[in-house]
Amino acid sequence: MSHIRTRFAPSPTGYMHIGNLRTALYTYLLAKHEGGTFILRIEDTDQNRYVEGALDAIFRSLDDCGIIFDEGPGKDGGFGPYVQSERRALYKEYAEKLIELGGAYRDDEAIRQRIPREGETKFTDAVFGEITVPNESASLDEGVLLKSDGLPTYNFANVIDDHLMGITHVVRGSEYLPSTPKYTLLYEAFGWEPPLYIHVSPVMRDATHKLSKRAGDPTYEDLTAQGYLPEAILNYVALVGWSPGGEREFYTLRELTEAFTISGISKSPALFDIVKLNYFNAHYIRELPPEDFAARIASQLPAEYDANAIAALLQSRTEKLTDAKELAAFFEAVPEYSLELYRNKKAKTTPEAALQILVKLSTLLQSLTDWTDEALFTLLSEAEDGFTKNARLWVLRIAISGLAVTPGGATAIAAILGKAETLSRITSAIGRLQNGV
Ligand code: GLU
Repeated sequence: MSHIRTRFAPSPTGYMHIGNLRTALYTYLLAKHEGGTFILRIEDTDQNRYVEGALDAIFRSLDDCGIIFDEGPGKDGGFGPYVQSERRALYKEYAEKLIELGGAYRDDEAIRQRIPREGETKFTDAVFGEITVPNESASLDEGVLLKSDGLPTYNFANVIDDHLMGITHVVRGSEYLPSTPKYTLLYEAFGWEPPLYIHVSPVMRDATHKLSKRAGDPTYEDLTAQGYLPEAILNYVALVGWSPGGEREFYTLRELTEAFTISGISKSPALFDIVKLNYFNAHYIRELPPEDFAARIASQLPAEYDANAIAALLQSRTEKLTDAKELAAFFEAVPEYSLELYRNKKAKTTPEAALQILVKLSTLLQSLTDWTDEALFTLLSEAEDGFTKNARLWVLRIAISGLAVTPGGATAIAAILGKAETLSRITSAIGRLQNGV
């Protein structure tokens, strides 16, 4: 196969939508799988849709994900410029040429595509197969190619640029499928070889609706702000509409590059499932080096305790980085809880038993000098108070956290809280149990 050149061609109209990110990823993977060239082209000829800051968002998101372009704005590979508004003169030149070739005509100040009245237009899409459209069909209108202000429409610019940039494979959303016969006619009129088209079906929020920011669906930037890791987003998004075959789920970008094939792309729209993304995210969070995880959540943790120690308890229980604050909130202050929490069938405890256990523990703990998880655990295992170890652990957990379920066991939490705070929490728990409220 000759050298593959692919391009991701976003319009700077806002944020990095998940569907766009997936297109960028597939485009990148396709090129990199074959050792080809991945190009970033900015399609900014529709000035009405231009959003300030959108370019930065594109650069940042791609960079964040490791989708590094080989050619693009600021990285000329001999096919630039890579920003359409800087290519005006080219579009004009080729529009004039197309008039000479019979593929276009002048209409007032604009230039329109000429569609043959008879015959049919055929192209093969790698996902949707061979597509044949009669030239008389309504979808093949003689649309404007070059507007009176000299700016091209998407319909013209994509063909000129893909050709001049030597693009061999075009990956884009299936919303462009119906207009592709028009591009085929343009290639034919110029006598150019068209690229291979790979149209991908949309990413859906439910059975009938595409993901949509307006409907409240998150963009890539929203997801990272919500505590999703780029590698988790990328891994999950790769599998929304593409399958490597088999059961394996976790892939790094490098592994995706090795595994990627066009034949794995699905024709049917694929559902974006946030629950599934949470699962991927939890996996990538668990894989982070502990110090890295701690550094990422440190700002959410109560400053008075050892962030690394709390992080070690949270890491295996965190689905999103932003969960940390809530998961660790009990370190800051014991939440309100019902004394009924002390009643536990398995641990065989009641509020009455809890009171006895805590009074005894309080005395034992006061004389403990080695305030570590291990020493605390030994003390709780061996205390002689007529109750079981599990009963003591249960009761201590409730007294110092106010929660039935905590990240980490009672003694690990007590070790982090320190002696003074642990004893003070036990004392107030004893007070509540004595008063029954
Ligand atoms: N600028 C188009 C978009 O953002 C790109 C379509 C294409 O890849 O050709 O939808």
